[in-house]
Amino acid sequence: MPEKSSLGEPKRPKRPRGRARLLEGKCIACGALCQAECPADAIEMNDRGEPIIILENCIGCKKCVKVCPASALEMFFTPEEEAVLAELARLGFAKEAPEKEGPVPKVDQSYRGVWVFVEQQNGRAAAVSWELLGAGAKLAADLEVDLCAYVLGHEIGHLADEAFAYGAKKVYLVDDPILKNYRTEPYLKASSDLIRKYKPEVVLMGATGLGRDLAGAVATDLHTGLTADCTGLAIDKAGRLLEQTRPAFGGNIMATILTERHRPQMATVRPHVMPKPEPVSGARGAVVVEPLDMSEDDIRVKVLEVREDEGAANRVDIAGAEVLVSGGRGMQGPENYRLLQELADVLGGTVASSRAAVDAGWMPYERQVGQTGKTVRPKIYIACGISGAIQHLVGMQDADLIIAINRDKDAPIFEVAHFGLVGDLFQIVPLLTKRFREMAGKPSDSGNEKG
Ligand code: FAD
Repeated sequence: MPEKSSLGEPKRPKRPRGRARLLEGKCIACGALCQAECPADAIEMNDRGEPIIILENCIGCKKCVKVCPASALEMFFTPEEEAVLAELARLGFAKEAPEKEGPVPKVDQSYRGVWVFVEQQNGRAAAVSWELLGAGAKLAADLEVDLCAYVLGHEIGHLADEAFAYGAKKVYLVDDPILKNYRTEPYLKASSDLIRKYKPEVVLMGATGLGRDLAGAVATDLHTGLTADCTGLAIDKAGRLLEQTRPAFGGNIMATILTERHRPQMATVRPHVMPKPEPVSGARGAVVVEPLDMSEDDIRVKVLEVREDEGAANRVDIAGAEVLVSGGRGMQGPENYRLLQELADVLGGTVASSRAAVDAGWMPYERQVGQTGKTVRPKIYIACGISGAIQHLVGMQDADLIIAINRDKDAPIFEVAHFGLVGDLFQIVPLLTKRFREMAGKPSDSGNEKG
């Protein structure tokens, strides 16, 4: 007989909360999100980045289960707790109602068209804008809409012609002295006014310093979603949705993000992630000129002086290099990078590195390739002593030709390499340098070679 309450009704046993446990083989070592979420200090991490649940501390709050991006945690119950749950069910105490999401509001279907923001400084466009027009052309074709560009600045009319050459069918221009130098407020106003008036369904910007600042401000102003640093863009034709793919959880998974409820769908993409299309000279399209409804008095930020960054000319630009010879932890020390420099010299290339080499202090950060470094798209990428962690691969996997040198035949870098050389880089790299020198008809510098 079940126990009775004071009203004579069956007394409801306390619902057991259970404990969290890890499902074997499912953890992706996302970076300890479960541990960060746990309010009871019930999770420690092992050296593979997987959680160890301290059962006596677990309070069964399910927070770790909910936050896990890989569904690698679940709640479990002891046989005694299972019996209580069965008794609760028998007494008719239903399970707690699942949390319900509200209905998805209808999206404003009047938004149409794919727009690319053409970033410029002193009338010179950032190359990422043309890369985005290349990516935008495919999206526009899938959505059966026009590909458009929008340009803000002063005396920037010539950029409309360039935008047509790179595939835009229509260009929206706001040309005003106030827009000469970038400031968030007027660029935000011009962008938001254009987007509210012409209602594009997709807006793309470069993930540059300027683009990141503007995109965030515009998305906030328009109350829409923004996915930063996308590495892939595609269209779900049925839903007219932009599929925005980017690394998530420390680069351990690739997430595809949708902006289902709001328009426009906004994304930024880093330079060199998308290929730049070949320009078609003489291409023409429509130009729509709009005013900037703003005066200098409306803007809080004043530009007093613009100074060129004097160090910029000396800084190494691995993102723009056509040939990169990149070294990782396998280089064993900073002194060995001269081997890579010699190979780079003969190929007219630049030396880059993995983060492991930067963290070790062997190479400066400006040379780092990868998720927290630069995204590169060279014609040739030679990876020497680099294992090929996902965070490195997202920064270089779109190189035209990847050559990997690694003594571990199972290194993940070989999965993206077009040519793999399994062996000791200290033997292979000097041999390659020697061979390329001979091919280039240059005298061999045997003093620098080893092995
Ligand atoms: P290792 O993984 O140690 O690989 C060294 C390789 O050298 C091995 O494969 C070994 O077989 C080979 N080797 C050793 N000796 C020789 C030899 N004599 N000849 C041939 N091969 C040899 N990493 C990045 O690179 N860029 C990033 O932007 C980046 N961002 C990150 C962001 C986050 C949030 C996190 C968590 C990590 C990030 N990482 C990044 C780090 C990344 O996970 C790896 O730890 C790093 O890329 C490893 O560098 P590596 O390949 O040089 O070193």
